[in-house]
Order: sequence, then C-alpha cells, then structure tokens
Amino acid sequence: MSDHPSKGLILIIDDNSVNLSILAQMLVVAGFEYRVAADGESALESVQYEPPDLILLDVQMLPGIDGFEVCQHLKTNPATQDIPIIFMTALADPKSKVKGLSLGAVDYITKPFQKEEVIARVKIHLKIRFLVQELAQKQTELEHANHQLQRLATMDGLTQVANRHAFDQYLISEWKRSIRERRWISLVLCDVDYFKRYNDTYGHQMGDRCLQQVAQALVQAARRPADLVARYGGEEFALILPNTNPSGAKQVAELIQEEMYQLKIPHAQSDVSQYVTLSQGISSVVPTESEAVADLIRIADEALYEAKKQGRNKFILAPIGSGSTKV
Ligand SMILES: [Mg+2]
Repeated sequence: MSDHPSKGLILIIDDNSVNLSILAQMLVVAGFEYRVAADGESALESVQYEPPDLILLDVQMLPGIDGFEVCQHLKTNPATQDIPIIFMTALADPKSKVKGLSLGAVDYITKPFQKEEVIARVKIHLKIRFLVQELAQKQTELEHANHQLQRLATMDGLTQVANRHAFDQYLISEWKRSIRERRWISLVLCDVDYFKRYNDTYGHQMGDRCLQQVAQALVQAARRPADLVARYGGEEFALILPNTNPSGAKQVAELIQEEMYQLKIPHAQSDVSQYVTLSQGISSVVPTESEAVADLIRIADEALYEAKKQGRNKFILAPIGSGSTKV
C-alpha cells in the first residue's frame, strides 16, 4: 500500500474478468484503491465488510443477481444507500441506462471503456460524495454547538441548575398549561439560612461549594421529569412543580429538608442548626384566567418570609385562596 492518502476506494463489480482487470489498471494509474467482485452476492458481502467510496457496477451478470438487483439492495439499506453507483452498460443499450438511473445510480459509463471518461466520471462523483459527507459532518458539529449554546443560555454556571431566565420562561408556560388543563401547580422558593454568615466564616469559595451542594440536594428532591430546579437569586432557589397539589408540594419540601440534613454541611455560625439549613415558602394553586402568575411568586415569597420570621429551617405552605398553612 502507498504511503500517500488514497484518492478513494472503488469497488468494481463485473462478471467479466477482462473488464475487471482493465478497470483496475485504469484506477490504479489514476491513484485510486480498488477492490473487485465477480458476482452480485459477493459484491453485497464486500460492501458490508468494507464500504467503498464509489461503486462501478456491471448491469448484466451471470449467474445470480444482476446489477439492477445489486443496486436495489444497496439503495434500500441505510448503511449503503449513500454510496454513489455508476452503472456500466453496453453502448447500444439506452434502456439499461434509464433503468439504472431510476434505481438511484448517479451515472453510467459505456463499454468499451474510454479511460479518460471513466476516470473523469469517477473523480466528479467522488468529489460530490466527499463534499456531501463533509457537509453532513459540519451539520452535525453545528447542531452539537447549538445544543451546547442552548444549554449554556439556560443554565446557571455555578450550580448547573436552570438560571433565572429559564425559570421565568418555564413558569409561564407551565402556568398556562395548568390553566388549560385545570391542574395544580406549586412553587417552592427557598433560601439558605444565614448564608452571609456562612460566607463570612468559611469564605466565598466554600460559599460557592455550599450553593452547588444545595442545588444538587434540590435536584434530588424534585425528580419528576416536569419538575424544574432553578437558581432564583444569590442564595435563593426556586422549584416549579407542575401537576402538584399542596400535599405533593409538602412532600417535596420535606424531602428537601431530609436531603439537606443528609448533606451535613457544617455551619458554626447558624442560630438554628450546626449544619446548613433552608427556609422554604410554598404556594399552590389550580390557576384560572383571573389569576396572575405574579401572585404565585408573591405568595411563595411571603410564605418564605414567614418561614424566616418563625425561626428558619422550616417551610410554610400557602395554597392560594385557602389561607396559609403553618407546618
Ligand atoms: Mg456482464
């Protein structure tokens, strides 16, 4: 094998060994690699084993399946359908040319072979083939990059949960859905207790680490696919819980407390615990057109304030329209 990169691998399929060797000779001189198959069945096997960049395919082959059948097989298999096929037909056989093209071949060449024509057609179809592959590759890379951008645009960089922008958008869409489907929606706002003291005591790097751990605890507590955990502000987080009634929201709040307790992040300066704790305010409603999503946030915020006022490390549940429930 040559040390130079090949210009392409061509599979020649022909039941005539003289044709095979003529074509092989032409291709080698022009710098291509080639493989040969003397019948349709072994050609199909060869393609599966090592897909070529292009196929030269004889129409009439005996015994076994002819060139048209080989073409049909290759064009119906997703793994091989993009390999360009050039049919080889007798000069005085226009029907075969038309049939070959209608079966998905990109071109045809006629026998007896003209060297310049064979090489020119092989080159142009290989060039198209490689350009199409390159384009597909670029397209995949672009989609990947877009996906990453989308993720970065909606994610909080420090805690890896949704950012405020994603929170706002998701809350509005789920609020509208709840109105349409007449379902409960719950919102949990939570705040790290004595977080300023935590930063002052342990430093901002530890403060960042603490927020990351809290975010993960919240993700653990709200695990249904529709639940969304977001960083709402500095040390404040929000959970959107679609299709969740007050008792379901209460269960999530308890899970959050449990997860926080398991974390056991030391907080020597906290007045309520030796560990980092959260205060939570919860609002729940089956919304109608007459209510505003801002009310859901305001009531959760008031409940959070109430939880703080009542000594922190607790949650207050405030279903809209039925008064607040202290827990
Ligand atoms: Mg033949």
